[in-house]
Amino acid sequence: MSKKIRTVTGDLSPEKFGQTMIHEHVVLDLSHVRNDDDPILSNSEILNRELERLKAAGCGGIVEVTNHGMGRDVISLHDISLQHDLPIVAATGYYIEAYYPPEVFEKSEDEIFELFVSEIMDGVGDTGIRAGIISEIGSSLNEMTTNEEKVFRAACRAQIQTGAPLSTHCELGTMGSAQLKLFNDMDVDLSKISIGHQDLNGNREEYDYLLKAGVYIQFDTIGKNNYRSEKERISDLIYLLDKGYVNQLMLSCDITKKSYLKVNGGFGYEYLFTDFLPQLKELGISQEEITTMMVDNPRRFLSF
Ligand SMILES: [Zn+2]
Repeated sequence: MSKKIRTVTGDLSPEKFGQTMIHEHVVLDLSHVRNDDDPILSNSEILNRELERLKAAGCGGIVEVTNHGMGRDVISLHDISLQHDLPIVAATGYYIEAYYPPEVFEKSEDEIFELFVSEIMDGVGDTGIRAGIISEIGSSLNEMTTNEEKVFRAACRAQIQTGAPLSTHCELGTMGSAQLKLFNDMDVDLSKISIGHQDLNGNREEYDYLLKAGVYIQFDTIGKNNYRSEKERISDLIYLLDKGYVNQLMLSCDITKKSYLKVNGGFGYEYLFTDFLPQLKELGISQEEITTMMVDNPRRFLSF
């Protein structure tokens, strides 16, 4: 049987995915931790206008990495996917300790592993909608807590059991090497691993170390120029392309707040297509390299 990408509307052949955003949030609620209602995204008129603009700008697929404790809502994702005729992959997983729902502290590694596998194989709750990625599995700033390590180990075992892709959250770009060590210790297929938020890292030795091992890395906070300037982000990306790592790089914006939406005056999901990719082209990056990062790599990584 040929490999498929598992979306909220069923398993699709990889060719159904066009230019794909590898780490996004479309329906999300972090208000309980942040005490603020800006990090709430829901299936609303505002969001749907935003997604219409995004599709018109060239987006042909979204990996939606919201998980347990982050306000995941796979039914809304299913409805949004149908409404916009846009493939969406939903996630199973837990984020970072500060956002863990209480059950994570109670559950054993085995129980977490079983939950992840059942959401990929059988579906989320009784919705019949299946997760197609284990994500965003996170470590805290400059450390991986004991509970985070438990979640990572369960995630690795679920990856091995199902073959599903696994992508991570590195708080402000940190801890990628520690995550890689754990993946190696757990004997995971590194071609199904993608390390997140590496555009916030900036450590070129660490980039080389990760990429030589065979994982993907994500430049996935594009547009968040208050975290890191666009100039630095682009300079690191060009460095990596020059070194020949084009087959292991994937891009996204990681929209997490209403105020980031274009319709609310923010940079919007579409920024990747309307601003960032054109800038790369002006700097001499070829359309072929862009297609590899935006289409070929996500298709290969997400298929199982
Ligand atoms: Zn995220």
